Amino acid sequence: MLSESILRELREVLGGKNVLSETEDLLTYAYDATAAMRRKTPDVVVAPKSTEEVSQVLNIAQKYGLPVYPRGSGTNLSGGTIPLEGGIVLSLLNMNRILEVDTENLTATVQPGVIIQDLNNEVALHGLLYPPDPGTVTTATMGGSVSESSGGLRGLKYGVTKHYVMGMKLVLADGKVIKWGGKTVKNVTGYDLTALFTGAEGTLGIITEILVKLIPAPETRKSLLGVFDDVDKAGRAISAIIRNRIIPATLEIMDNMTLRTVENFTHAGLPIEAEAVLLIEVDGYKEVVEREAALVEDVLQQEGAVEVKVAKDEQERERIWFARRSALPALAQKKPTTVLEDATVPRSKIPEMLKAIREIAKKYDLLIGTFGHAGDGNLHPTILTDERDKEEMARVEKAVDEIFQVAISLGGTLSGEHGIGIAKAKYLPLEFGEAGVRTLRRIKEALDPEYRLNPGKIVLRKE
Ligand SMILES: Cc1cc2nc3c(=O)[nH]c(=O)nc-3n(C[C@H](O)[C@H](O)[C@H](O)COP(=O)(O)OP(=O)(O)OC[C@H]3O[C@@H](n4cnc5c(N)ncnc54)[C@H](O)[C@@H]3O)c2cc1C
Repeated sequence: MLSESILRELREVLGGKNVLSETEDLLTYAYDATAAMRRKTPDVVVAPKSTEEVSQVLNIAQKYGLPVYPRGSGTNLSGGTIPLEGGIVLSLLNMNRILEVDTENLTATVQPGVIIQDLNNEVALHGLLYPPDPGTVTTATMGGSVSESSGGLRGLKYGVTKHYVMGMKLVLADGKVIKWGGKTVKNVTGYDLTALFTGAEGTLGIITEILVKLIPAPETRKSLLGVFDDVDKAGRAISAIIRNRIIPATLEIMDNMTLRTVENFTHAGLPIEAEAVLLIEVDGYKEVVEREAALVEDVLQQEGAVEVKVAKDEQERERIWFARRSALPALAQKKPTTVLEDATVPRSKIPEMLKAIREIAKKYDLLIGTFGHAGDGNLHPTILTDERDKEEMARVEKAVDEIFQVAISLGGTLSGEHGIGIAKAKYLPLEFGEAGVRTLRRIKEALDPEYRLNPGKIVLRKE
């Protein structure tokens, strides 16, 4: 509970309706999209409308020693927005204006609360595209996705959020405002703080303005569905596509359990008898798309696909991608708790990773559905469980440990796109060693010595 005088100070800065302190309001901020995660209700939720107001909130937080938890739409999958120590949840949803679309320099400047799809609807009017495309494009904010360096369905050809952020305005833990980067394609002035703050999960500063790169929207696209009677064959087909020097915009996988569940949920006409399907999209100039689609079809057949379907029209294409985007919500219907991981391996190691996940599921007697951005080496093994079942949760924890160990041993990483947040912080030494973790801590403590910003995430206080 905050004292009435602190609440009054916040209301003076932000206006009464942008400061929430009623229990029923606060409860909804104890959660984000992450399952089986410790929950905690904040003491207050504030929703500033400008950089200046964010800075004043941080001054108040500093004065009273309160932790600050930045929040966009709360769709992250690593507990990133959970206010572990109470304090202030700082919602950026009131800062939701697209400030500029610069069609000469192919950039856009946005406030952090802009929804990714809204930016894309706006830039599409100019024949442009902002490529990062997480499954939550219609709900996630630019600030949240930049802070997670979100990936998504177009990562294979177009890269991820960090490849599009050119600059930003930030409020630091002490309330000071800094601006970094700019519209020049080349910029090596000083340390690259834009890169440092991208993917920092709100632990180093609050992003209040973002400058992103746009690209010309592809002229056309074609979607294909490769049907396999064996997961290993599907895994090998992924590697074969890349080996044949074809880089589709999107190359996704769904295993049999995911397929069945998604079909039950979407009625998209998916082949539920298949052991795995690959969902592929190529895009670009018409002639290139025709040629690439034909090449993909050949490779799929050579690698033993039982069937290759090509979407006949936009409606059929939409159905395929709606089905893919429904994978997580569909799986989440099967059991009360879905523990979703995003361990990522070099693309050539996908067949081995798929095999390891199947073996881990068997070893710990768990239901694991696997789907994901296979072309990027980014799989989402999703454990379907029930957090009230303590014995099963102990097995889940062991399975997750092993998934990470295998990913790292194959030359991969703990997180391809969902971030470290709360639960994965303990695994960091596995990837970086103690010296690496110490380096992260030094950066955190240089910028936020009192652990005011999003404490309990990525870098933990030394005990
Ligand atoms: C069904 C589903 C599908 C998903 N699919 C994908 C996918 O394909 N690819 C992918 O990468 N992710 C995916 N995600 C994860 C999630 O959607 C993305 O990470 C998303 O971009 C987060 O945006 P958000 O606005 O919800 O951020 P939030 O969850 O609100 O915040 C994310 C993090 O950023 C911090 N933060 C938020 N705003 C700011 C700010 N202005 N300044 C500083 N820090 C800030 C928060 O403290 C938190 O640590 C999926 C999630 C779900 C539920």
